[in-house]
Amino acid sequence: MTIEPPLALLAELTHRCPLRCVYCSNPLALDPSGSELDEAAWKSVLDQAADMGVLQVHFSGGEPTSRKDLEALVAHADGRGLYVNLITSGVMLTEKRVAALAEAGLAHVQLGFQDSDAARGEAISGYKGGHEKKLAAAAMITGAGLALTFNAVIHRHNVARVPEMLDMAIALGAQRIEIANVQYYGWGLHNRASLMPTRDDLDRMTAFVEESRERLKGIIVIDYVIPDYYASYPKSCMGGWARRFMNVTPAGKVLPCHAAETIPGLEFDNVKDRPLADIWQNGQAFGKYRATEWMPEGCRDCDRQKIDWGGCRCQAMALTGDAANMDPVCSKSPLNAGIREIAEADAADEAADPVYRTFQHP
Ligand code: SF4
Ligand code: SF4
Repeated sequence: MTIEPPLALLAELTHRCPLRCVYCSNPLALDPSGSELDEAAWKSVLDQAADMGVLQVHFSGGEPTSRKDLEALVAHADGRGLYVNLITSGVMLTEKRVAALAEAGLAHVQLGFQDSDAARGEAISGYKGGHEKKLAAAAMITGAGLALTFNAVIHRHNVARVPEMLDMAIALGAQRIEIANVQYYGWGLHNRASLMPTRDDLDRMTAFVEESRERLKGIIVIDYVIPDYYASYPKSCMGGWARRFMNVTPAGKVLPCHAAETIPGLEFDNVKDRPLADIWQNGQAFGKYRATEWMPEGCRDCDRQKIDWGGCRCQAMALTGDAANMDPVCSKSPLNAGIREIAEADAADEAADPVYRTFQHP
Protein backbone atom coordinates (compact mmCIF):
# COMPACT_ATOMS: atom_id res chain seq x y z
CA MET A 1 0.00 0.00 0.00
CA THR A 2 1.35 3.45 -0.90
CA ILE A 3 1.13 5.78 2.05
CA GLU A 4 0.68 9.41 1.03
CA PRO A 5 2.13 12.10 3.34
CA PRO A 6 -0.30 13.85 5.69
CA LEU A 7 -1.89 17.09 4.55
CA ALA A 8 -1.59 18.78 7.93
CA LEU A 9 0.25 18.72 11.21
CA LEU A 10 -1.60 19.62 14.39
CA ALA A 11 1.09 20.98 16.70
CA GLU A 12 -0.21 21.09 20.28
CA LEU A 13 2.47 23.39 21.61
CA THR A 14 1.32 23.33 25.22
CA HIS A 15 -1.55 22.17 27.41
CA ARG A 16 -1.26 25.34 29.50
CA CYS A 17 -4.32 27.57 29.07
CA PRO A 18 -5.78 30.36 31.20
CA LEU A 19 -9.28 29.11 30.35
CA ARG A 20 -10.84 26.00 31.88
CA CYS A 21 -13.56 25.14 29.34
CA VAL A 22 -15.74 22.29 30.48
CA TYR A 23 -15.96 21.01 26.88
CA CYS A 24 -12.21 21.04 26.15
CA SER A 25 -11.18 18.10 23.97
CA ASN A 26 -7.71 17.87 25.55
CA PRO A 27 -7.07 14.65 27.47
CA LEU A 28 -7.96 14.43 31.18
CA ALA A 29 -4.27 13.82 31.91
CA LEU A 30 -2.70 17.04 30.59
CA ASP A 31 1.03 17.28 29.77
CA PRO A 32 2.73 19.40 32.47
CA SER A 33 4.73 22.43 31.28
CA GLY A 34 8.05 20.80 32.26
CA SER A 35 7.52 18.05 29.69
CA GLU A 36 6.99 20.41 26.69
CA LEU A 37 9.26 20.17 23.64
CA ASP A 38 11.60 23.15 23.44
CA GLU A 39 11.89 25.56 20.51
CA ALA A 40 14.66 23.60 18.77
CA ALA A 41 12.67 20.36 19.00
CA TRP A 42 9.56 22.01 17.54
CA LYS A 43 11.62 23.53 14.72
CA SER A 44 12.93 20.06 13.93
CA VAL A 45 9.34 18.74 13.86
CA LEU A 46 8.38 21.52 11.43
CA ASP A 47 11.41 20.78 9.21
CA GLN A 48 10.61 17.10 9.14
CA ALA A 49 6.94 17.79 8.35
CA ALA A 50 7.88 20.10 5.47
CA ASP A 51 10.35 17.49 4.14
CA MET A 52 7.56 14.89 4.19
CA GLY A 53 5.31 17.10 2.03
CA VAL A 54 2.96 18.37 4.76
CA LEU A 55 1.22 21.56 3.54
CA GLN A 56 -0.35 23.09 6.65
CA VAL A 57 0.50 23.48 10.30
CA HIS A 58 -2.14 24.24 12.91
CA PHE A 59 -0.61 25.64 16.10
CA SER A 60 -2.91 24.68 18.89
CA GLY A 61 -2.96 23.68 22.55
CA GLY A 62 -4.04 24.38 25.27
CA GLU A 63 -3.38 27.98 24.47
CA PRO A 64 -0.50 28.24 21.97
CA THR A 65 0.11 31.92 22.75
CA SER A 66 1.28 30.75 26.21
CA ARG A 67 4.53 29.88 24.39
CA LYS A 68 6.94 32.81 24.14
CA ASP A 69 8.58 31.20 21.10
CA LEU A 70 5.34 31.13 19.08
CA GLU A 71 6.51 33.92 16.74
CA ALA A 72 9.79 32.08 16.10
CA LEU A 73 7.89 28.85 15.34
CA VAL A 74 5.48 30.64 13.01
CA ALA A 75 8.40 32.22 11.16
CA HIS A 76 10.15 28.87 10.90
CA ALA A 77 7.04 27.13 9.55
CA ASP A 78 6.39 29.92 7.06
CA GLY A 79 10.03 29.81 5.98
CA ARG A 80 9.59 26.12 5.18
CA GLY A 81 6.58 26.91 2.98
CA LEU A 82 3.89 25.68 5.40
CA TYR A 83 0.50 27.42 5.56
CA VAL A 84 0.27 28.56 9.19
CA ASN A 85 -2.96 28.58 11.17
CA LEU A 86 -3.33 29.55 14.84
CA ILE A 87 -6.13 28.13 17.00
CA THR A 88 -6.49 30.38 20.02
CA SER A 89 -8.79 31.67 22.74
CA GLY A 90 -7.33 35.12 22.01
CA VAL A 91 -7.25 36.25 25.64
CA MET A 92 -3.45 36.62 25.77
CA LEU A 93 -3.07 38.49 22.47
CA THR A 94 -1.84 42.08 22.33
CA GLU A 95 -1.53 44.47 19.34
CA LYS A 96 2.23 43.98 19.45
CA ARG A 97 2.01 40.21 19.43
CA VAL A 98 -0.54 40.07 16.64
CA ALA A 99 1.65 42.38 14.53
CA ALA A 100 4.69 40.19 15.24
CA LEU A 101 2.79 37.01 14.34
CA ALA A 102 1.53 38.57 11.10
CA GLU A 103 5.06 39.70 10.30
CA ALA A 104 6.34 36.17 11.02
CA GLY A 105 4.04 34.73 8.35
CA LEU A 106 0.85 33.73 10.16
CA ALA A 107 -1.90 33.34 7.56
CA HIS A 108 -5.07 32.54 9.48
CA VAL A 109 -6.53 32.62 12.99
CA GLN A 110 -9.33 30.52 14.45
CA LEU A 111 -10.61 32.47 17.43
CA GLY A 112 -12.77 30.58 19.92
CA PHE A 113 -15.90 32.12 21.45
CA GLN A 114 -17.97 30.44 24.15
CA ASP A 115 -21.14 32.52 23.69
CA SER A 116 -22.57 35.82 22.47
CA ASP A 117 -23.47 36.54 26.09
CA ALA A 118 -20.37 37.49 28.10
CA ALA A 119 -21.45 36.15 31.49
CA ARG A 120 -22.71 32.84 30.16
CA GLY A 121 -19.61 32.31 28.03
CA GLU A 122 -17.35 33.05 30.99
CA ALA A 123 -19.31 30.55 33.12
CA ILE A 124 -18.39 27.82 30.60
CA SER A 125 -14.73 28.83 30.26
CA GLY A 126 -14.21 29.61 33.95
CA TYR A 127 -12.35 32.79 32.93
CA LYS A 128 -13.68 36.20 33.99
CA GLY A 129 -13.24 39.07 31.56
CA GLY A 130 -12.51 36.72 28.67
CA HIS A 131 -15.30 37.89 26.39
CA GLU A 132 -14.08 41.51 26.22
CA LYS A 133 -10.55 40.29 25.49
CA LYS A 134 -11.80 38.08 22.68
CA LEU A 135 -13.68 40.96 21.07
CA ALA A 136 -10.49 43.04 21.25
CA ALA A 137 -8.46 40.15 19.83
CA ALA A 138 -10.81 39.82 16.85
CA ALA A 139 -10.30 43.52 16.03
CA MET A 140 -6.50 43.14 16.31
CA ILE A 141 -6.52 40.08 14.03
CA THR A 142 -8.56 41.65 11.25
CA GLY A 143 -6.72 44.96 11.75
CA ALA A 144 -3.46 43.15 11.02
CA GLY A 145 -4.94 41.83 7.77
CA LEU A 146 -5.15 38.23 8.97
CA ALA A 147 -7.97 35.92 7.90
CA LEU A 148 -10.35 35.20 10.80
CA THR A 149 -12.56 32.21 11.53
CA PHE A 150 -15.00 32.54 14.44
CA ASN A 151 -15.07 29.20 16.28
CA ALA A 152 -18.36 28.76 18.12
CA VAL A 153 -18.53 25.62 20.25
CA ILE A 154 -22.16 24.68 20.79
CA HIS A 155 -23.83 22.83 23.66
CA ARG A 156 -27.18 23.00 25.36
CA HIS A 157 -26.36 26.14 27.36
CA ASN A 158 -25.72 28.32 24.28
CA VAL A 159 -27.61 26.57 21.48
CA ALA A 160 -30.41 29.13 21.66
CA ARG A 161 -27.95 31.92 20.80
CA VAL A 162 -26.49 30.52 17.58
CA PRO A 163 -28.21 33.36 15.60
CA GLU A 164 -26.55 36.00 17.84
CA MET A 165 -23.17 34.29 17.46
CA LEU A 166 -23.53 34.33 13.69
CA ASP A 167 -24.35 38.07 13.78
CA MET A 168 -21.32 38.62 16.01
CA ALA A 169 -19.02 36.76 13.62
CA ILE A 170 -20.16 38.94 10.71
CA ALA A 171 -19.82 42.15 12.74
CA LEU A 172 -16.28 41.15 13.74
CA GLY A 173 -15.25 40.69 10.11
CA ALA A 174 -14.83 36.90 10.13
CA GLN A 175 -14.78 35.23 6.72
CA ARG A 176 -15.89 31.93 8.19
CA ILE A 177 -17.76 30.66 11.23
CA GLU A 178 -17.49 27.14 12.55
CA ILE A 179 -20.70 26.25 14.32
CA ALA A 180 -19.27 23.15 15.90
CA ASN A 181 -21.21 21.14 18.41
CA VAL A 182 -19.09 19.79 21.22
CA GLN A 183 -17.30 16.60 20.25
CA TYR A 184 -17.32 14.25 23.20
CA TYR A 185 -13.64 13.59 23.88
CA GLY A 186 -11.46 14.45 26.86
CA TRP A 187 -13.18 16.95 29.17
CA GLY A 188 -16.15 17.11 26.81
CA LEU A 189 -16.77 13.38 27.27
CA HIS A 190 -16.30 13.71 31.02
CA ASN A 191 -18.95 16.48 31.08
CA ARG A 192 -21.23 15.06 28.41
CA ALA A 193 -24.34 14.92 30.63
CA SER A 194 -24.16 18.65 31.28
CA LEU A 195 -23.51 19.64 27.66
CA MET A 196 -25.68 17.48 25.39
CA PRO A 197 -28.41 19.43 23.55
CA THR A 198 -31.86 17.96 22.94
CA ARG A 199 -32.94 16.62 19.56
CA ASP A 200 -35.35 19.58 19.25
CA ASP A 201 -32.50 22.05 19.91
CA LEU A 202 -30.48 20.36 17.21
CA ASP A 203 -33.31 20.39 14.66
CA ARG A 204 -33.93 24.12 15.22
CA MET A 205 -30.21 24.87 14.88
CA THR A 206 -29.87 22.79 11.70
CA ALA A 207 -32.83 24.58 10.08
CA PHE A 208 -31.34 27.94 11.05
CA VAL A 209 -27.91 27.04 9.64
CA GLU A 210 -29.40 25.83 6.36
CA GLU A 211 -31.48 29.00 5.94
CA SER A 212 -28.51 31.22 6.90
CA ARG A 213 -26.15 29.54 4.44
CA GLU A 214 -28.44 30.55 1.59
CA ARG A 215 -29.10 34.05 2.93
CA LEU A 216 -25.42 34.84 3.64
CA LYS A 217 -23.80 33.46 0.50
CA GLY A 218 -20.82 35.66 -0.35
CA ILE A 219 -20.86 37.26 3.13
CA ILE A 220 -19.67 34.48 5.42
CA VAL A 221 -18.95 30.77 5.02
CA ILE A 222 -20.73 28.59 7.60
CA ASP A 223 -19.18 25.27 8.57
CA TYR A 224 -21.49 23.12 10.64
CA VAL A 225 -20.59 20.13 12.78
CA ILE A 226 -23.55 18.36 14.39
CA PRO A 227 -23.26 16.36 17.62
CA ASP A 228 -22.23 12.88 16.53
CA TYR A 229 -24.72 11.15 18.80
CA TYR A 230 -27.66 12.47 16.76
CA ALA A 231 -26.12 11.79 13.32
CA SER A 232 -27.19 8.98 11.00
CA TYR A 233 -23.66 8.32 9.80
CA PRO A 234 -20.38 8.99 11.55
CA LYS A 235 -18.07 11.81 10.58
CA SER A 236 -14.94 11.06 8.61
CA CYS A 237 -12.86 11.44 11.74
CA MET A 238 -9.52 13.15 10.95
CA GLY A 239 -10.31 12.43 7.28
CA GLY A 240 -9.62 8.75 8.05
CA TRP A 241 -7.18 7.29 10.59
CA ALA A 242 -3.57 8.04 9.57
CA ARG A 243 -4.61 9.44 6.18
CA ARG A 244 -4.55 13.26 6.35
CA PHE A 245 -3.43 14.43 9.79
CA MET A 246 -0.84 13.83 12.42
CA ASN A 247 -0.89 15.30 15.87
CA VAL A 248 2.16 16.05 18.00
CA THR A 249 1.45 16.51 21.72
CA PRO A 250 3.22 19.10 23.90
CA ALA A 251 5.60 16.38 25.13
CA GLY A 252 6.35 15.15 21.60
CA LYS A 253 4.17 12.05 21.28
CA VAL A 254 2.91 11.55 17.74
CA LEU A 255 -0.76 10.55 17.51
CA PRO A 256 -3.12 9.79 14.62
CA CYS A 257 -5.71 11.96 16.41
CA HIS A 258 -5.79 14.02 19.57
CA ALA A 259 -7.85 11.45 21.52
CA ALA A 260 -5.93 8.36 20.38
CA GLU A 261 -4.30 7.88 23.79
CA THR A 262 -7.68 6.68 25.12
CA ILE A 263 -7.28 3.48 23.06
CA PRO A 264 -5.45 0.73 24.93
CA GLY A 265 -2.87 -1.35 23.08
CA LEU A 266 -1.58 1.44 20.84
CA GLU A 267 2.10 2.34 20.95
CA PHE A 268 2.90 5.99 20.45
CA ASP A 269 6.36 7.06 19.33
CA ASN A 270 7.97 10.31 20.38
CA VAL A 271 9.68 12.77 18.02
CA LYS A 272 12.62 12.68 20.43
CA ASP A 273 13.21 8.99 19.61
CA ARG A 274 12.17 8.41 16.00
CA PRO A 275 11.94 10.45 12.77
CA LEU A 276 8.48 11.83 12.01
CA ALA A 277 8.33 10.24 8.54
CA ASP A 278 9.18 6.81 9.96
CA ILE A 279 6.47 7.19 12.62
CA TRP A 280 3.93 8.15 9.95
CA GLN A 281 4.88 5.27 7.66
CA ASN A 282 5.66 2.50 10.15
CA GLY A 283 4.47 3.50 13.63
CA GLN A 284 2.32 0.82 15.27
CA ALA A 285 -0.49 3.25 16.21
CA PHE A 286 -0.64 4.69 12.69
CA GLY A 287 -0.81 1.27 11.02
CA LYS A 288 -3.42 -0.18 13.35
CA TYR A 289 -6.56 1.38 11.77
CA ARG A 290 -5.21 2.80 8.50
CA ALA A 291 -7.23 2.35 5.26
CA THR A 292 -9.79 -0.48 5.17
CA GLU A 293 -8.13 -3.81 6.02
CA TRP A 294 -8.84 -3.51 9.75
CA MET A 295 -12.56 -2.79 9.25
CA PRO A 296 -15.27 -4.81 10.99
CA GLU A 297 -17.97 -6.72 9.14
CA GLY A 298 -20.58 -4.21 7.99
CA CYS A 299 -18.06 -1.53 7.09
CA ARG A 300 -16.13 -3.96 4.88
CA ASP A 301 -18.85 -4.09 2.21
CA CYS A 302 -20.36 -0.65 2.82
CA ASP A 303 -20.37 1.92 0.00
CA ARG A 304 -19.44 4.67 2.49
CA GLN A 305 -16.24 2.99 3.66
CA LYS A 306 -14.04 5.48 1.78
CA ILE A 307 -16.25 8.42 2.77
CA ASP A 308 -16.19 8.08 6.55
CA TRP A 309 -13.48 5.40 6.91
CA GLY A 310 -15.62 3.61 9.51
CA GLY A 311 -16.01 6.75 11.65
CA CYS A 312 -14.14 7.48 14.83
CA ARG A 313 -11.97 4.87 16.58
CA CYS A 314 -11.87 6.80 19.86
CA GLN A 315 -15.65 7.04 19.90
CA ALA A 316 -15.97 3.31 19.18
CA MET A 317 -13.65 2.75 22.15
CA ALA A 318 -15.47 5.15 24.48
CA LEU A 319 -18.95 3.87 23.68
CA THR A 320 -18.46 0.17 22.91
CA GLY A 321 -15.23 -0.71 24.70
CA ASP A 322 -13.52 -1.83 21.46
CA ALA A 323 -11.85 0.63 19.07
CA ALA A 324 -12.14 -1.91 16.21
CA ASN A 325 -15.95 -1.82 16.30
CA MET A 326 -18.02 0.19 13.84
CA ASP A 327 -18.49 3.73 15.18
CA PRO A 328 -21.78 3.22 17.07
CA VAL A 329 -23.21 6.55 15.89
CA CYS A 330 -23.63 4.82 12.50
CA SER A 331 -27.25 3.79 11.98
CA LYS A 332 -25.99 0.45 10.63
CA SER A 333 -24.28 -0.36 13.92
CA PRO A 334 -26.06 -2.95 16.08
CA LEU A 335 -25.26 -0.66 19.03
CA ASN A 336 -26.75 2.49 17.48
CA ALA A 337 -30.04 2.53 19.41
CA GLY A 338 -28.12 2.71 22.69
CA ILE A 339 -26.35 5.88 21.52
CA ARG A 340 -29.62 7.75 20.99
CA GLU A 341 -30.70 6.67 24.46
CA ILE A 342 -27.46 8.03 25.94
CA ALA A 343 -27.92 11.35 24.11
CA GLU A 344 -31.52 11.70 25.21
CA ALA A 345 -30.77 10.77 28.83
CA ASP A 346 -27.84 13.21 28.96
CA ALA A 347 -29.88 16.00 27.37
CA ALA A 348 -32.55 15.52 30.07
CA ASP A 349 -30.05 15.47 32.95
CA GLU A 350 -30.70 18.84 34.58
CA ALA A 351 -28.68 17.97 37.68
CA ALA A 352 -25.33 17.23 35.98
CA ASP A 353 -22.60 19.53 37.29
CA PRO A 354 -19.71 20.13 34.88
CA VAL A 355 -16.10 19.79 36.00
CA TYR A 356 -13.72 22.52 34.85
CA ARG A 357 -10.59 21.54 32.95
CA THR A 358 -7.64 21.36 35.31
CA PHE A 359 -4.19 19.80 35.53
CA GLN A 360 -5.50 17.70 38.45
CA HIS A 361 -6.80 14.57 36.75
CA PRO A 362 -10.38 13.98 38.04
S1 SF4 B 1 -11.11 24.51 24.79
FE1 SF4 B 1 -10.88 26.13 26.36
S2 SF4 B 1 -9.62 25.18 27.99
FE2 SF4 B 1 -9.40 23.89 26.14
S3 SF4 B 1 -7.58 24.68 25.16
FE3 SF4 B 1 -9.33 25.73 24.22
S4 SF4 B 1 -9.58 27.63 25.40
FE4 SF4 B 1 -8.23 26.28 26.61
S1 SF4 C 1 -21.14 0.80 8.02
FE1 SF4 C 1 -19.07 1.55 8.48
S2 SF4 C 1 -18.36 2.48 6.56
FE2 SF4 C 1 -20.60 2.23 6.40
S3 SF4 C 1 -21.48 4.18 7.08
FE3 SF4 C 1 -21.39 2.86 8.89
S4 SF4 C 1 -19.40 3.30 9.85
FE4 SF4 C 1 -19.33 4.12 7.77
